[in-house]
Amino acid sequence: TAKVLGGPIAWSITVNTTGSITQVTSFGVPRDTQEKVRVALEGKPFVSTALGGIVGPVWTPLPIDEEISTDAFGLFGVRSGWYIPISCLQENLVALVIVGGPSAGDFAEARHRDLVNFLAQETSLIAENAILREHDHYQATHDSLTSLANRAAFEDYLAHALAIATRTSGHLAVLLLDLNRFKDVNDTLGHHIGDALLNEVAQRLTSVMREADVVARLGGDEFVILLSTSADISGAKVAAKRLVTALEQPLLVAHRSIWIGASIGIACFPEHGTDPQTLLHRADLAMYEAKRTTVGVVAYDASVDRAQSSVPGLLLELPRAIQQNELVVHYQPKLDLNSHEVLGVEALVRWAHPTLGLLGPEQFVPLAEATGIIRQLTSWVLATALGQAAVWRASGRALRMSVNISARDLADVTLPDRVTAALVSSGVPADQLTLELTESAIMSDEAKGTEVLTRLRQLGVRISLDDFGTGYSSLAYLERLPLDEVKIDRSFLGGGNGAESFLVRSMVKMGHHLGLQIVVEGIEHWTSYESVARIDCDELQGFALSPPLEAAQLEQWLDDWTSNLPSGSSHPWRQAE
Ligand code: C2E
Ligand code: CA
Ligand code: CA
Repeated sequence: TAKVLGGPIAWSITVNTTGSITQVTSFGVPRDTQEKVRVALEGKPFVSTALGGIVGPVWTPLPIDEEISTDAFGLFGVRSGWYIPISCLQENLVALVIVGGPSAGDFAEARHRDLVNFLAQETSLIAENAILREHDHYQATHDSLTSLANRAAFEDYLAHALAIATRTSGHLAVLLLDLNRFKDVNDTLGHHIGDALLNEVAQRLTSVMREADVVARLGGDEFVILLSTSADISGAKVAAKRLVTALEQPLLVAHRSIWIGASIGIACFPEHGTDPQTLLHRADLAMYEAKRTTVGVVAYDASVDRAQSSVPGLLLELPRAIQQNELVVHYQPKLDLNSHEVLGVEALVRWAHPTLGLLGPEQFVPLAEATGIIRQLTSWVLATALGQAAVWRASGRALRMSVNISARDLADVTLPDRVTAALVSSGVPADQLTLELTESAIMSDEAKGTEVLTRLRQLGVRISLDDFGTGYSSLAYLERLPLDEVKIDRSFLGGGNGAESFLVRSMVKMGHHLGLQIVVEGIEHWTSYESVARIDCDELQGFALSPPLEAAQLEQWLDDWTSNLPSGSSHPWRQAE
């Protein structure tokens, strides 16, 4: 500026974002004078200096004249000239330039003023651009929610750290962390709480790790930590356990204590990989293994790969899932056609898997049946369904409960004892429980099956033959078995044409003749209701009435159903049409 203006003296004073003077430089000033001013000003809050007192909030260049110059400008050896605040974004002062001369009347002309004005604006723009670029860089490398480094920045750090570790034969560890119950929190308490929780987690992570470790958020509820100083596998495990323990403590979010928990997978350099992608991928595999086995921390090894690729993975998880109440029971209502009331429900199990979502019974019941785990599963469903029945009974809803039993259960001579135990502990009368079995389950060992069924019936429990018509048995088969009910498989309802309903009608007649209760299941359309009503069966079940529902939803559904039921109507389903 001094050069352009032709003046002999120029000072530049730089101010940082917190308002302190960080740099003092000069032009045309003796070295020792500059040094004296520098020592006097650097590190001081700008506003506390004599200069700060007069510049105030004015952001356009102002002339220096003798009246105001004594205190503020004496130090700089300037008696006349201009002081030029350089501001940027939100009027932050980033620098102050003083140009002038040691005597009065220097630089007083209009062309000087215009030039100074122009320079001030130009410089402010440059400063603004620089800050915006820095801001962009920050945004590109940081996660906007938690202010942690983002994935791109983490990969850069990791590549850099790997280069150094390779040169120095050092060790590195990548810890991939995933929260255990984040989805639940987000779904039940809302995104605001979810976001606040992620912030709390970020803070807790950084507070537990050392300064030199890099903590980043990869997205969602996934975080990654780079342990850079000579972290070998055992050291990494210790650090990971520390993190898991830290996240087992409740987090306080919006006046709530939230228990979130976390699983961590570890991959180390050089043992598990030498490039960022491999390390991140293997840490990810190890993390899934940690989730799957619920052990909290798993370091990658070749067996993790194998475990991930094998189908029975779900099977290994099942016993734990049962213990930890990951299974849930939904209830599907059955409509009694004599009273037009819902007198019973069927318990249908689901698995709320932490990573795979809600799994239907087809996805895991066959696995459980192929091993002994079905015993545990059946006992759990029995206890849960009867527990629910007891709750409903206590609140005035006497609903019969149907529970599905597999072939393997029937081969188990302790089944009647297990059923008795579940009845006793729930307090539900035995005749309120119906056990549903398929023909193939009974036929696989007819003598033993019949024996167990007979003992169950002696307890007072009702027995239902499920999926009737899909097996190989004849109607005559029904006569030999100790049964109370038959459920006609939905495949017979198909298009609802004459032949099918003739078949169904015959089955119903035959069943009634044998003194059996007939349930028709899988009714999806109102038209099939009508045709089924004509065939004189006892109970209906199907999506058209209601899909299987969670207990609370079913209560709501029952209330709605009852209140829409006109008294004396013989076709209540028409109401819902
Ligand atoms: P299921 O015993 O025949 O149960 C009826 C199945 O048909 C249920 O499927 C139910 O959701 C479905 N469904 C009901 N109404 C309709 C309809 O109108 N249309 C169609 N297309 N489907 C309908 P889900 O819950 O997937 O259960 C499938 C099977 O898994 C069950 O067939 C049963 O064999 C077995 N299962 C379910 N829960 C358990 C359990 O706790 N233990 C055992 N051992 N097996 C179970
Ligand atoms: Ca069934
Ligand atoms: Ca069935």
